[in-house]
Amino acid sequence: MDDNLNIHGRTLQEWKKAYPLLSSLIATEEAFWLNEHYESFRQGAGLPLREEDIRDAEARLVRFAPYLQSAFPETRKTDGLIESPLLPIPEMQSYLESVQQIAIPGKMWLKCDSHLPIAGSIKARGGIYEVLKHAEDLALTHRLLTPGDDYAKFSTDAFRELFSRHSIAVGSTGNLGLSIGIISAQLGFQVTVHMSADAKEWKKELLRSKGVNVAEHASDYSKAVEEGRKQAAADPSCYFIDDENSKDLFFGYAVAAYRLKNQLDALQITVDREHPLFVYLPCGVGGGPGGVAFGLKQVFGDHVHCFFAEPTHSPCMLLGLMTGLHDQISVQDFGIDNKTEADGLAVGRPSRFVGRTIETLLSGIYTVEDDELLVLLAALRDQQGIRMEPSALAGMCGPSRLAGSAEGRRYIEKQNLSMKQATHIVWGTGGSLVPESVQEEYYQRGLQMARSRQE
Ligand SMILES: *Cc1c(COP(=O)(O)O)cnc(C)c1O
Repeated sequence: MDDNLNIHGRTLQEWKKAYPLLSSLIATEEAFWLNEHYESFRQGAGLPLREEDIRDAEARLVRFAPYLQSAFPETRKTDGLIESPLLPIPEMQSYLESVQQIAIPGKMWLKCDSHLPIAGSIKARGGIYEVLKHAEDLALTHRLLTPGDDYAKFSTDAFRELFSRHSIAVGSTGNLGLSIGIISAQLGFQVTVHMSADAKEWKKELLRSKGVNVAEHASDYSKAVEEGRKQAAADPSCYFIDDENSKDLFFGYAVAAYRLKNQLDALQITVDREHPLFVYLPCGVGGGPGGVAFGLKQVFGDHVHCFFAEPTHSPCMLLGLMTGLHDQISVQDFGIDNKTEADGLAVGRPSRFVGRTIETLLSGIYTVEDDELLVLLAALRDQQGIRMEPSALAGMCGPSRLAGSAEGRRYIEKQNLSMKQATHIVWGTGGSLVPESVQEEYYQRGLQMARSRQE
């Protein structure tokens, strides 16, 4: 790109001078950005969202548990809660230490949102929550429901008949569409999913098989969302799930923090000054990782350190936070192509709402190459027998990047953290619904990549 090119009122040269990291981002090199707006946690940071709103979402999900158990029998083993295991990954940790030749102090765990029931990705948290909340609102308005009722009645004909007169729409790179499509169709809604060009064919086929309308767009995620929003606005009976702006989605994701606290308590894992908690979250538009991070800060305050991970070709949240311009700027403005194998993270313009909410809560963001995601995907399958999709591996290099990079070490020093007893949670965000043949192809490519690196 030409240094004299004008981008939002500044030349590229001026941009690079103001933000030296930009040159690495533009060159799609791996980068590590520390958030200089990070602050010690105080209650009320990230207003106007409140902790009560997350408690409210948590209680609503408990009310819906009897319905979920009957409509989705796979949720019976978690009593109708959509929750995933937290697993130790010592073999993977040793593998990373030996391949990358970096000691990782502390212990690594994997949060398996890849194996969440119903939708097989982190979107089962926010997406399903928002549809359930909308269904509850409609049922209350139409007097089919009174507070205190058993929510198993959401599977009855009266409810399905009501929902069949209403529609739901969403724009997605794939996984949000899967989650919204599956739950909406099950409740009886008419549902349309606007898919960006990155969406995988199998995701579209799976949705069509469940009676979901799939609108295909040749453009990227931001355009697919815009298109969906426009079509929904023209139809008063249509409810649009807005991945870029929805607070309900965000609260649904945030509930994960309370659930994680319970899991850590049950495992007798302490989180305090001597036992810091690090969480590494793959980031697309920001709602999923932002909601989880927001919830975690309410629960653990200064003892939790949240890092986001983005593909080198789609560092939208990094760009938005670093420049403070949020959704006013896109990776494409700087000639970055937003083309990545991590389809769940293929977003060029971040959510402004999320960026502003987490502005002082997030510790930093690093970027990862696609090749690395595939190598990690194959390694996770070999070392631990766990299968995930490429997007879900972005968090996996967090602990070694923190321990092995100058920026990471600077953070640890500045926060004065003792790492010996640290807990590292890699948020594994998706993959259990990936068809066997597609998974095999990722795996083979990862193996090949790892081999070619050894040569
Ligand atoms: C959507 C998604 C993410 C990121 O969530 P955002 O809300 O888009 O930031 C991460 N991993 C997977 C697998 C996803 O589908």
